[in-house]
Amino acid sequence: MPELPEVETTLRGIEPWVLRKQITAVEIRQRSLRWPVPPEIGEALIGQTIVGARRRAKYIMLELSGGGTLLVHLGMSGSLRILQLDADDGAWRKHDHISVGFASGKELRFHDPRRFGCWLFCGPGSVPEETHALLTHLGPEPLSDAFTTDYLWQRMRKRTVAIKQLIMNAKEVVGVGNIYACEALFLAGISPRKAAGRVTKKQTERLVAEIKRVLAGAINMGGTTLRDFLNADGEAGYFKQELRVYDREDEPCVSCGNPVKRIVQANRSTFFCSSCQR
Ligand SMILES: [Zn+2]
Repeated sequence: MPELPEVETTLRGIEPWVLRKQITAVEIRQRSLRWPVPPEIGEALIGQTIVGARRRAKYIMLELSGGGTLLVHLGMSGSLRILQLDADDGAWRKHDHISVGFASGKELRFHDPRRFGCWLFCGPGSVPEETHALLTHLGPEPLSDAFTTDYLWQRMRKRTVAIKQLIMNAKEVVGVGNIYACEALFLAGISPRKAAGRVTKKQTERLVAEIKRVLAGAINMGGTTLRDFLNADGEAGYFKQELRVYDREDEPCVSCGNPVKRIVQANRSTFFCSSCQR
């Protein structure tokens, strides 16, 4: 599943080819994604320019000169790629669902085998971004200045929920997926099972720092592996980063040598070292 770093890398990859570019063609071959692609996404986009490209949580937001915003989510298996139509035959591959063509001759193509991704429209004639149900309850961005020790500490106080579940809850902080939660808790030396309210302030400080570090590290890794987005094959996948505990059940802990344990929390596998994480 594309996580925050893959989405950020996708945004940085497509941005040079879509920002300030005028839309000259839109083709939608499959409107039945996680939610139906609304009628505002179609010929109405032709002639508009993309005037902003940003990310909120795992949504890519493309702002239009007409005042609306495209809200694109990659879901479980979605990806975006850029085609260069004078060099590429533009053939549609299986599971390509949407294309947006630009005056520059480039084309943005959305591919999603499992169709859990979405393309939605916010703005004139529809729900404004500020009150969109998918966006209003989101916590701060983990890499922003709003995600601080004090912020997380306040959210954790008196809470009995396990710390891992709390940091994976998008209402508390967005974009901390399962891999990153496991890795950050290991690096911070905190047991994933510990009640959030029992985590000390010192531990919280380390946890906030490690969450930022693992996500920023993955984004940097993505920037090097997927630098050439133009004509990239566009397959979604995890970045081949070094994982210290995730998916290493029974392998020796990189720090103490004891076997890494796997438990299930909220239907997700948790990997941790019971000696190093307290
Ligand atoms: Zn250990």
